[in-house]
Amino acid sequence: MSPLPSPGSPSLPFNTLIVGGGPCSCAVIVKAARLGVLSDLLSGKVGPFVATAEAEATEGEDEKKGPDEGGGSRPGLGGVCVVDPCRLKEFGRGKLGDYVISSNTNADAFVTVVTKEKSDGHPSEGALGTVLSPLLAVGTGQDLLAVGEKIAPLVKIGDWLSDIGAVVRMTLEGSKKSKLCLGCKVVSAHQRRDQARGCLVWDVRIRCERVYGRGEDLPKAVGEEMVLCAKNLVMATGGKQKLPTGVFEGKKVNSKVMLSDYVLTTAGALDLKSRLDVARSKKGGACKVAIIGGSHSAFSVAWVCLNHLKVDSSVSASGSDSAADQEVRRVKYPWGPGGVVMLHRSPVKVFYNTLKDAKAAGYAVPEGAANKLGQVNVFTGLRGDAKALHKRIKEGKESRVKMYRVAENAGGQAVRERAVSEADVVVWCAGYGTNEVEDDGAT
Ligand SMILES: Cc1cc2nc3c(=O)[nH]c(=O)nc-3n(C[C@H](O)[C@H](O)[C@H](O)COP(=O)(O)OP(=O)(O)OC[C@H]3O[C@@H](n4cnc5c(N)ncnc54)[C@H](O)[C@@H]3O)c2cc1C
Repeated sequence: MSPLPSPGSPSLPFNTLIVGGGPCSCAVIVKAARLGVLSDLLSGKVGPFVATAEAEATEGEDEKKGPDEGGGSRPGLGGVCVVDPCRLKEFGRGKLGDYVISSNTNADAFVTVVTKEKSDGHPSEGALGTVLSPLLAVGTGQDLLAVGEKIAPLVKIGDWLSDIGAVVRMTLEGSKKSKLCLGCKVVSAHQRRDQARGCLVWDVRIRCERVYGRGEDLPKAVGEEMVLCAKNLVMATGGKQKLPTGVFEGKKVNSKVMLSDYVLTTAGALDLKSRLDVARSKKGGACKVAIIGGSHSAFSVAWVCLNHLKVDSSVSASGSDSAADQEVRRVKYPWGPGGVVMLHRSPVKVFYNTLKDAKAAGYAVPEGAANKLGQVNVFTGLRGDAKALHKRIKEGKESRVKMYRVAENAGGQAVRERAVSEADVVVWCAGYGTNEVEDDGAT
């Protein structure tokens, strides 16, 4: 692995620095391996670079070196550096594996996109004979392939993503010119002109959040900072949900608002349940939740309310108190009719694989919603458990959930205010944005 430069070092060690170590970050390495350009990427040979007089002068010397030592690479450039504050076992998984719901995409697609041979592609690509080969047989991938075109729990998809992360980690750690920098967060990134090289470069400041425990040249203490320099910067920091200001007025309302991104995790679902339990015991009866939004996240939160939250029934299955019996005694949350209220502004979008399916379901396909293949709402439509729940609500088979479409006018506002004030918990299910680097003046 290449050494990291000291702060302010004039060296240009990395061709590419990737901010974030989730699935999108690993996809860069996976795709390069599949296309057969991984060793070029790791040695700094590929990637846009403005040739300079200095570069041309040393090109001949560089050719004499071996692969991954600068042979054929741009002079002075290393390969790839990936930075993420996560722990070792979390690398590659990103946020996806934290959610308690099932996927809205086919389980096998997560595997085939990495492992399938595409010899007829332009260019052709595949995993056989590459660093990805070990993934062809791992259990997590085989399990998802067995599920096929159905959905699977995101926790299981997270396990597969972790296995991909392990392969990417070993690949980076096995490369002399590349680096995996875990436990560190990128806190700023500034582009400047490097006069000596006659090109633009990025100064990327990283801060240690937890000690990773390996690598002589990594920050050694929490809070320690270091500046890395790279020619190219890839942002793979995922999305972040934020509550827009001014949506909910008053301290009382604000204290009962939760973000869906949190509610959909194990910790968030437990938090939601304990808030509901408190409300239930105060009221001595059924409680209410208001879900704001009508997309995948909103229906996923409704699904969690109905299926994931459990309470102990008073009836003991066998009189014993083993863990298994306790689990048997756990029943679905006791919602009353309309206990889960959903408020949405736009019509709910549902995915259908064909126009015929949409018609059969009585879905009026909006103009522009179908693609050339006749698939409806491919990227934005509800799928999986969310779609099934929406169907049950529309068919009147799910009395615990009430959906209201609220207009952007005074009437709509009144409905929303009433639903929010009557609710014990409000879950905000919109407003994802880019997870930006929290810079004090990023450029
Ligand atoms: C509820 C929900 C369900 C979903 N279900 C599906 C599904 O079924 N199928 C599907 O294909 N997609 C699904 N998605 C979308 C999927 O989660 C994202 O497309 C995917 O996680 C994006 O990967 P990523 O690597 O860009 O981001 P993330 O998974 O968010 O990873 C970002 C990484 O960047 C790191 N990071 C952030 N800031 C910094 C920084 N300053 N410095 C260094 N590192 C940083 C984080 O620690 C993290 O490891 C779902 C999304 C949500 C919210």
